Amino acid sequence: MIATILDGKALAAKVRAETTAKVTARTAAGKTPPGLATILVGHDPASETYVRNKRKSSEEVGMVSFGFEMPAETSQQELLKVIAELNARPEVHGILVQVPLPKQIEAAAIQSAISPLKDVDCLHPENIGYLAQKGGAPRFVSCTPAGIMRMLSEAEVKLSGANAVVLGRSNIVGMPISLLLTKADATVTIAHSRTQDLPAVCREADVLVAAVGKAEMVRGDWVKPGAVVIDVGVNRVDDASAKRGYRLVGDVAFEEASQVASAITPVPGGVGPMTIAMLLENTLHAAELADTI
Ligand code: NDP
Repeated sequence: MIATILDGKALAAKVRAETTAKVTARTAAGKTPPGLATILVGHDPASETYVRNKRKSSEEVGMVSFGFEMPAETSQQELLKVIAELNARPEVHGILVQVPLPKQIEAAAIQSAISPLKDVDCLHPENIGYLAQKGGAPRFVSCTPAGIMRMLSEAEVKLSGANAVVLGRSNIVGMPISLLLTKADATVTIAHSRTQDLPAVCREADVLVAAVGKAEMVRGDWVKPGAVVIDVGVNRVDDASAKRGYRLVGDVAFEEASQVASAITPVPGGVGPMTIAMLLENTLHAAELADTI
């Protein structure tokens, strides 16, 4: 079997066009344009690229981007002060603090300090609670998991009754995508670094989501024939033939897995572009929420 490639770049362009139209209509009606504040602490090169892309993308859809770059030695108190200021600014609707943060800063304290109404990454405990609540309507849905669900929906993947295996249990990807797949009536197994016999667990999956951060860990013979494979991983591997000296690969050995799966996301061009598209949707949603207060 040769898998269908799930083109996140094309779908993200469609989602962004929808967001652009809504932002244009909003500003034409005299409302404030959605504002997204990004905070980058330190100089991690991958984080710098992510933040640059998020800022550029928000401006492209007509939003206002507020960028804050803070030195690597920033204290937790200093960062909390900036967040408190942004919480109070009405023209800032969404606040995103790029992770990883330097070791002197406790990520959970920062995520809890962001106003739950501006929490476009859905990391505040209150918003995670809404997301986890059965039958409840979440206020925000974490960007990467929201993007994955949109891709699965667009590809008409049947989730009800399907076996889904999620590799990884982080707050930003593994845990929320497990919640969303459960809400969609899949039977979800969450695997992690202590899971026994990972290949056998993966082979049970009709839908396999890999969010581990280990280059090409999932091999072709871990994939059930006909499974849908969502590769969230973004890993740099050295490549002397590439202009930058490295190339990006996912957590899944793409060539092998695409011989077995029915559908698969590429890296790059799969989940990544969808993450940014959903961040923009969440920022618009945050602006609409602010209108109601
Ligand atoms: P984390 O490091 O926070 O979490 C990794 C998870 O993988 C943990 O739950 C860990 O288990 C598990 N894990 C680590 N090693 C193994 C192993 N050998 N076998 C099984 N499970 C393992 O990562 P993130 O969730 O933040 O990100 C995962 C990947 O997704 C990264 O490559 C990241 O760059 C990428 N990413 C991509 C995005 C996109 O838009 N495309 C957005 C966000 C992330 P344990 O809990 O036991 O430690």
